[in-house]
Amino acid sequence: MPGNDPNYPSGVSLVGREALQVRWADGHESTLPLALLRRNCPCAKCRTLRSRVSLQVLTTPAPDRLEVLEVAPVGFYALRIRWSDEHSAGLYPYTLLRSLCPCAGCRSGDGGQAPSGCTRGEPGAPTLSRL
Ligand SMILES: [Zn+2]
Ligand SMILES: [Zn+2]
Repeated sequence: MPGNDPNYPSGVSLVGREALQVRWADGHESTLPLALLRRNCPCAKCRTLRSRVSLQVLTTPAPDRLEVLEVAPVGFYALRIRWSDEHSAGLYPYTLLRSLCPCAGCRSGDGGQAPSGCTRGEPGAPTLSRL
């Protein structure tokens, strides 16, 4: 099912207690700080909090002190992350993780090694044209 989707991870590992490293099928690697992931938690509760406060920085209590207890794949499309405060409602679609990639290539918009798949773009746009 994953097929040749470059936004499918071939490896996921925790880097210390600070970041989640994702290696993508196209060879690109994303090191995603845990605080960044938590701020972008896609669960309904966090989304509501974010829209109410409208400033992402204020959403969660001390995200810097949170740890990840467990990362588990959900089907072929997402990771579930269980946090040390027992928050585990958020499923992170791979496209979201990829769009959060903070590397210079992705931030500058040339998308590292997968130009069309690694921009800030919308999750859920899986059709990628590759050279
Ligand atoms: Zn959440
Ligand atoms: Zn990147």
